[in-house]
Amino acid sequence: MDKIWSSDDILESGLLHRSLKVAPYMAKNASGSYIYLQDGTEILDGCGGAAVISVGHSNPEVIEAVTEQLKTITYVHTAEYTTAVSEELANLLLESYKGKVAKVYFVNSGSEANEAAIKMSLQYFYEQGKTEKTHFISRKQSYHGNCLGGMSLSGHVVRREPFEGIISSNFHQVSPANEYRFKNSGESTADYVKRLASELEEEILKIGPEKVACFFAETIVGATTACLPAPEGYFKAIQAVCQKYDVLLALDEIMCGSGRTGTFFAWEAEGIVPDITTAGKALSGGYSPLSAVFLAQKFVDVLGAGSNSFNCGHTYQSFALSSAAGLSVQKIIRRDGFLQNVVEMGKYLEYSLKQALSSSKVVGNIRGRGLFWGIEFVSSRATKHPIGATIHFGYMVQRAIFEEGVAVYPGFGTVDGHSGDHILIAPPFNVTKQQIDRIVAATSKGISKIESSLFS
Ligand code: PLP
Repeated sequence: MDKIWSSDDILESGLLHRSLKVAPYMAKNASGSYIYLQDGTEILDGCGGAAVISVGHSNPEVIEAVTEQLKTITYVHTAEYTTAVSEELANLLLESYKGKVAKVYFVNSGSEANEAAIKMSLQYFYEQGKTEKTHFISRKQSYHGNCLGGMSLSGHVVRREPFEGIISSNFHQVSPANEYRFKNSGESTADYVKRLASELEEEILKIGPEKVACFFAETIVGATTACLPAPEGYFKAIQAVCQKYDVLLALDEIMCGSGRTGTFFAWEAEGIVPDITTAGKALSGGYSPLSAVFLAQKFVDVLGAGSNSFNCGHTYQSFALSSAAGLSVQKIIRRDGFLQNVVEMGKYLEYSLKQALSSSKVVGNIRGRGLFWGIEFVSSRATKHPIGATIHFGYMVQRAIFEEGVAVYPGFGTVDGHSGDHILIAPPFNVTKQQIDRIVAATSKGISKIESSLFS
């Protein structure tokens, strides 16, 4: 196990002391909500890696669809061809969003989708002769991918650090929308939202509205601050500012989208329709890499409807095998009412976590939506003081929960001095009550174990 150079997120970015790093486990096989290790240990997958697994592992129907696709056609170049399977997937995804989303562009990873979204925003203004519009605004404590564009958008300080030298000064950041941490005492949610919208407006005016192309945000923040929804009314207020200055609104739903929060797009709960949405992970649920950029009609109006109208292309764009995986996963979700289960089990997960952790002194905040829940750890509930990156509390808790046979995902942690340590819980969309009981029991036990070892 020493020949694969693993660019471990946590270790490479300096978030985790090497002494805490464990060697990767050898995963032998997986089925439904379970992963089995080489030695036979059963792990209940409470996070699907980084919120990837949607219809469970080794779903026989998806396996059959992908196998059939392998026998039919796997690859053609999109400059000359399309395939029935990619077209069917596009139609299935767009049919419920007529008038809201006009086109979808398929690539392979979340990072690639965000790079495409950046370039589409630039080309959208370029084609209109607004060639100065080349600046982007995103938020601190955000994550938008590992390629240069996404990394430049990402407001996670430590991840950017080794690469700062190449990050363009055209990328700017404003405050995150984090009611738990940054709403002033006595400030109403409406006033907090107004303050954030004003900050964005000021930033646009500082840069110059004629230079700002796009505001980029995760609809519900994923790995950096663990499943953090925006305060009520935030996206409506932000969109109004964007529209006032001809700035595009792009929402990154790589982690929180594709049904994870109970609607296909997480923005459906926000009462807005963005200009661009990116999606990935749960879209094809771990069977073959697939991501997507969803675009409003105005892009088609400006760039044209043809497949070569966007000045970008990838070898494995609209990859038929990934489309087959995505199509099968999405058909199962729709046919078997999985989104209803996401909503119902999501409520049960929220209730159970809040019940089980109500007396824990280190649990500062439990937040999320659907089957996307984050727990933020603090050294004091009253002061909300973060436990701190120095002891890597979230990572230690994750290890302790794993020892109980349940996998959760560790948040990035406190490195930028703003947030606490976190864990994320994001089980498959067909998770059962019994499995949630097991996830919550293991989580509660893991937290108590680390809490008592450090603070008693
Ligand atoms: N955007 C968000 C919100 C993510 O959570 C991720 C991955 O975790 C990405 C972008 C990058 O996706 P990928 O790792 O598939 O490149």
